[in-house]
Formats: sequence, C-alpha cells, structure tokens
Amino acid sequence: MEQEMKADSDPDLDPEPGRPLTPSAPPGWLDDCERIVQGRGAKPLPPPLDPPGKPGEQRSRPSFVQHSVPPMTEAAARQALLRFVASRCCYGSRAAGELAIRQLRQLGTYRYRLETFSESRLSEWAFEPFTKPGAARPPGDAPLDPWDVEVRAPPLFQGQTWRCRVPHSALVRDCHRCHGHGRSRCGVCHGAGRTRCVTCKGSRWRLKQQKRCQLCSGTGRKRCNTCSGRGSKTCATCQGEKKLQHFKQLVITWKNNVFEFVSEHHLNFPGELLSKVSGENIFKDENVAVYPIIDFPEPEISLASQRAIAEHSAAFATSSRILQQRQTIELIPITEVHYQYSGKPYLYYIYGLENKVYALDYPERCCCSCTIV
Ligand SMILES: [Zn+2]
Ligand SMILES: [Zn+2]
Ligand SMILES: [Zn+2]
Repeated sequence: MEQEMKADSDPDLDPEPGRPLTPSAPPGWLDDCERIVQGRGAKPLPPPLDPPGKPGEQRSRPSFVQHSVPPMTEAAARQALLRFVASRCCYGSRAAGELAIRQLRQLGTYRYRLETFSESRLSEWAFEPFTKPGAARPPGDAPLDPWDVEVRAPPLFQGQTWRCRVPHSALVRDCHRCHGHGRSRCGVCHGAGRTRCVTCKGSRWRLKQQKRCQLCSGTGRKRCNTCSGRGSKTCATCQGEKKLQHFKQLVITWKNNVFEFVSEHHLNFPGELLSKVSGENIFKDENVAVYPIIDFPEPEISLASQRAIAEHSAAFATSSRILQQRQTIELIPITEVHYQYSGKPYLYYIYGLENKVYALDYPERCCCSCTIV
C-alpha cells in the first residue's frame, strides 16, 4: 500500500513494468485470488508434509578412516617458517635460518562440518503490461501449488536463486495506475500542459530590461517539455497497453547451510586460524538426511554432530525442503616447534595441510609500522 501511495504522489516514481509489486496485488480483485503472500514481506512457503525422498531405508554407518598426522621434519618446519617470514615485511629471515630447533611436538585437532543443502520457495505477485490477448488464465483453471512446479535443482551444495512464473496464475485487469486509460497525468505540469517560464519566473517581465519576457511572449508560462503540452503521458506502468497481466512469481532459493565446529586444542593459539586451512579427511557421510555421529573417539565431535543436525533440522525442515546433507570430520595437523635463538627459548606453530605458521614471539622483528619503509 505504501508503495502505491508514494507512486500516486509522484507519478515519475512509477515502478518499472514487470517488477514485482510486493507484496500487494491490485486493489479490488484480491478476493477471488488465493492470497499466499501476506504482510510486508513474502514468507517462504512450507513444503508438503511428506517430501519425496525421505530416508526410510536402513543404511550402514560409514566408518572412520584410520588416520595419522603426516610426520613433520625439522627441514620442513624450518622451510615453513622461512616462507612465513618472507611474507611479512617486518620479520627478518636470519633468525629463521639460524635458530636451533629443539623439539617438534606433533598434535592435531578435529574439525566437524555439517552441510545442509536446502531448497525454499516463496511466491510473490508481479505484473507486466498485457500485450497478448488470449494468454490470460482460462476460467476454472486453478493455479498450481508452488511446490508442484517442477524445476531442475542445481548441482548439490551449490547455492542459487531462480525465478519462474507459476503456471495458470495469470490474471488480466485494468491498469490500476491509469485506470485503464493507457495514459497518466504528467507529473511535471500536473496535467496543465504548461509550466512556469523559467526566464521570468512567471512574472511576464524582465525587470532589468524593463520589458515583457520574450521567451514566454509575456504569458509567464511555457509549454511543458515533459509531455509536449499534452498534460498527460503514456502510462509507464502498463506502457500504454491499458491492461496489466498479474501473475505469481515463484522464487526458489537453493542454499548450502554450513555448521562448523573445531574441537578444543588447549594451545596458546588463536582457534579462528584453523577454519582457514584444510585438514586430512577422515570421515565423510552424505545422504538425504544424515544421522548424528555417536561413537567418535573424541566425544566433543559426536556432541557437535548431534547439535548440528538438531539445529539444522529445526531451522530448515519446516520452512524449506532438505535435499541433501553431508557431514565430514577432518584432522587438522598442528606442530608445536620449540627452538632456541641467541640463548633464549621460543615457540611457533605449524598448522593445516598448507603448513601455515603462527609465530607470536619471533625474535627478529622490527618494531616500526609496516607502512613506513
Ligand atoms: Zn506536462
Ligand atoms: Zn517568461
Ligand atoms: Zn496504465
């Protein structure tokens, strides 16, 4: 309603034809239509109660892969540090080359991930100028349920949004903007066809020259340029067609929702760094619906799996249709490197299969700001 009132007060702010008139349908004819969008925003439509493809079959539980952290050698540890200092302008490389590695402590942490690939549908009213007689909805042909519209889903776990017309939802009505005239009042001259002369500002006189304004021939008014003096212009809403075809537009959104959990590692190491690296895949389970993991050696991971599945089920099962789920466990290697430099002990970490380095107390750092060269 707000959009329509706004449009009435300024005819030049007309929405583009074909753009959804969210969420209101044209006034006066809603009663014979199924109103599926209410309130200010379009809401997702709940899927049918019994979606096809629900898992009913017995599945054997995928087993955990026997795993071990790839061994970290002293040479590899030093190389990782050298690569790290080379990428930082205020870290010197001499210490990295000369330090004496005392101990390599190989550790690891688990990352659990649940991906839920969901499809949600909502429909909204849209309209366009009606140009094709005969394309309107045949009488008695009920609009399809939006969940009955068959579409091909994108590849699994890839988000996408798609719009299409709900078949048999079209209705043709007089354009609500011009009331079926095909023309609307010019917003510049308000229908008069003439506007105030800008040269004499409507006074008819040029005060400095002490004579009548020649540009408006002393009338104080000029022909409106916007409507060429007609006082009206082609209705922008129906593009002069007088009628609009309203239809339900179906918006389908496929989304990959991700839950991630990294187990506690009790190290002096910022945990958020771990979400940016890859680990060794030790468990993968994919199906329309996955079951919570119950017997993983680290109970935290089993609990995370149970929590993730419950959360995703609560969040997506009623408002959308879950098409596929995938849960994985990765082992992210972390190596604690103890070393000595100039007689003092230091420590750095190597993490992820990419051998990234975290070295907080690296001895050879200049204290100046990196921006000053
Ligand atoms: Zn005008
Ligand atoms: Zn004038
Ligand atoms: Zn119109």
